[in-house]
Amino acid sequence: MTSPSANVKLVSNAMANSTRRKIMAMLVERDRTQEEIEKEVGATMLDYHLQMLQQAGLAEIDDGVFSLTDFGKNFMETKSAQKPEESMKDLSKTKPLQILEIRQLLPCIADESKFRIIARLEPPLEGALKLMEPLFPRARYSEKIGALIIQKGNILITFYSTGNVTMTMIKSEEEARETLEDMKRTINEAIVKGVTPVPREKIKVDHAEIYEYLPKTNCQICGEQSCYAFAIKLVGRETTLDKCTPLLEAKYATNLEHIRTLLEYL
Ligand code: SF4
Repeated sequence: MTSPSANVKLVSNAMANSTRRKIMAMLVERDRTQEEIEKEVGATMLDYHLQMLQQAGLAEIDDGVFSLTDFGKNFMETKSAQKPEESMKDLSKTKPLQILEIRQLLPCIADESKFRIIARLEPPLEGALKLMEPLFPRARYSEKIGALIIQKGNILITFYSTGNVTMTMIKSEEEARETLEDMKRTINEAIVKGVTPVPREKIKVDHAEIYEYLPKTNCQICGEQSCYAFAIKLVGRETTLDKCTPLLEAKYATNLEHIRTLLEYL
């Protein structure tokens, strides 16, 4: 069996599907033949589902009988130990979203050729918003403002629990609509499944990416020779973001959010 640490992505993929989760729950009870599993979950893509579980190192087959591997048993035990939290992550009571309105506001302070957009989605996601964080590769939930902040290229999208959404650095209303439709689809897919999204994959963030959002004035207020040197130290955790006080200026507000989102992945 592959080591558990090497399996993070395979396990995430395997457990992202409700049929496979059901199979895993059945195997927790007892070992089963393929026919027994088929009776419970149906024959559709069953070979594929079983193969995914085996590839992830969660289940194995011996003489026609499927059982959990040691890793699979540990995984399911850890999951059940987290049960109170898991039940909070149930999205079954959340209704799919609709886009009610998209409005263009003032140009962005950081780049006047781009716009700031405000949109309204219904129904408001309220407490379920926090659960959406793992759905997007670069997202963080801010307890302070009760909002989910998602980074998509240069665009920063902030979903509020009230249903309001703001988007910065947008080229056109069309781009805003496409981006929002895309996100709405992702969220609604999770809502239709009614389950918590699987933990997201760790994303590699390097200093060059952080540097892109720094003021690039090399003012040295942070105590470093240049913004580039500051970015390197930031990634190496040898300094902290608050040392770059110019980033607190209004014109860098979007940049600051981008960097904060990226730092979540270090
Ligand atoms: S304070 Fe900020 S803008 Fe100034 S050099 Fe440091 S990182 Fe660059």
